[in-house]
Amino acid sequence: MTILLATTNKGKVAELQQQLENKGFTVLTLVNFPDCPEVIEDQDTLQGNAEKKAREVFAFTQIPTFSDDTGLEVAALGGRPGVYSARYAGTDGDAVANRAKLLVEMEGAGDRSAQFRTVICYFDGKEAYFFEGICKGIITTEEHGTQGFGYDALFCPDGFTETFAQLSIEIKNEISHRGKAVAKFLAKAQAYINTINL
Ligand code: IMP
Repeated sequence: MTILLATTNKGKVAELQQQLENKGFTVLTLVNFPDCPEVIEDQDTLQGNAEKKAREVFAFTQIPTFSDDTGLEVAALGGRPGVYSARYAGTDGDAVANRAKLLVEMEGAGDRSAQFRTVICYFDGKEAYFFEGICKGIITTEEHGTQGFGYDALFCPDGFTETFAQLSIEIKNEISHRGKAVAKFLAKAQAYINTINL
């Protein structure tokens, strides 16, 4: 079965491909559709943005579409940057500036707990299905590691001493917000495939 990932983010694509191709999905991305109009992520919830991306990309490609929207929710910042994580420091997608701003805002914070939350939307052309995943951890006081993307170098998941940027994709997928949401999607997809095989 072919599925289209509504993203060009190489880090996300690598993680999602690892999980979905292992389960037999053929994975396309927006790199395969350079003319697909950009989706403006202007909703005020992760679910809203994920659904908007999946529906608009499906409207252009007519391929069942899988999108995710993720936010970093930091306790000491009252849950910020949350749905605004991509443009936290001003410019959309400037990960270096976002991490720098996070370190400044967290200077001296006693409570460094945070969580990543992902909402996946799968739109098959008729219905939108949603899957949520959460990963709890802490914001480190400096960057560690060079793998991954976004805030990975500043996020140490509970139960680990390394940041996401120091862990392999396989381990990140087992414990991460996105990995957990994808696992829920795969369980639902498997149940559906079993039904039609009966
Ligand atoms: P979006 O889901 O691509 O809109 O991501 C929102 C923001 O969170 C962007 O700044 C991403 O770089 C960041 N982000 C999303 N997923 C992850 C992750 O797994 N690790 C670190 N940062 C992430």
